[in-house]
Amino acid sequence: GCYAQLKPEEIANIHGVDLVLGAAEKFNITQHLKELTKSNVAKICSCDIEEVTAFNSSWSINDRTRTFLKVQDGCNYNCSFCTIPMARGKSRCDSINNIIAHATQLAKAGVKEIVLTGINLGDYLTPTFPLTPALSTSGEGEGRNFYSLIQALEKLDGIERFRISSIEPNLLTNDIIEFVANSNKFMPHFHIPLQSGSNKILGLMRRRYKKEVYIERVNLIKKLMPHCAIGVDVIVGFPGETETDFQETYDLLHSLDVSYLHVFTYSERENTAALHIAPVVPIKVRHERNKALRNLSYKKLNHFKEQHTGEIRKVLFEAQSRNGLMEGYTDNYIKITAFFKPELVNQIVDWKV
Ligand code: SF4
Repeated sequence: GCYAQLKPEEIANIHGVDLVLGAAEKFNITQHLKELTKSNVAKICSCDIEEVTAFNSSWSINDRTRTFLKVQDGCNYNCSFCTIPMARGKSRCDSINNIIAHATQLAKAGVKEIVLTGINLGDYLTPTFPLTPALSTSGEGEGRNFYSLIQALEKLDGIERFRISSIEPNLLTNDIIEFVANSNKFMPHFHIPLQSGSNKILGLMRRRYKKEVYIERVNLIKKLMPHCAIGVDVIVGFPGETETDFQETYDLLHSLDVSYLHVFTYSERENTAALHIAPVVPIKVRHERNKALRNLSYKKLNHFKEQHTGEIRKVLFEAQSRNGLMEGYTDNYIKITAFFKPELVNQIVDWKV
């Protein structure tokens, strides 16, 4: 992962380590293992992150029901708290034709739901690739951005559900929201990082939107899809975050019609611009703010579930049985637990929430 690219020597010095592979070389792991000879010194195979430009397709294969398919990697943004661009390199992505081919293969393996993932998914942008005629609606040159990708996937037979994992608010266009609202396959569920409800802090974080953009996106989603789940990433304790700034974040999240929060406590990362921002927020205060937002998240999630209790919604049940129980998710991402029934595994069924 990122650690091996950012600090290969540190890992090489850990007792028992034989080989450290950076961001590009990890995809050649089988070759490296074949060539590895026992030595007292760990071997480091890594290059400068600027040289990492290739896209390597990957997807999770441990759960036949739901698969995470990587369609984009790297990031061209420079958020002041983030080391990901240093560890994963510039933004790059798979071609639409390749993604369609992978999704077709997954459908044949019995997968019902694909979650599209990437480091900065909304920044999906390919050079001009002609689509195969069967998938193209207007011919050459189509299929260059994320909107084109989801249009192409909607036409694919075999996969019944798609989800968009996480998308920056500035890249979540009205086109994408309207498309999902009218789609039979893209689930009413978005995960949109906010990070702070204070425009001052968003500026210090070098995020590419103001809170007003975020509010607009949420309002449009809920206008078109009142049942839609919306998850939010938020960071507390960023340097310079005063009590007033935090309250602004809290009040915004309280007022927004979102379903759950992923709350992160800011922690210092080497070589990031945020290290030079003052004043630092004391650790104790960071934890108090984290707790306040986690409590808010708990209430929001309960409220969201209560809004849909009693409704009949489509649930995709997953394969694992734990203590005689099985789990699945509704279209709008409400987790359902039921008594295990083998005939429900990997089936989409109408279910009373
Ligand atoms: S926080 Fe996300 S958008 Fe910002 S630099 Fe990191 S990966 Fe890119």
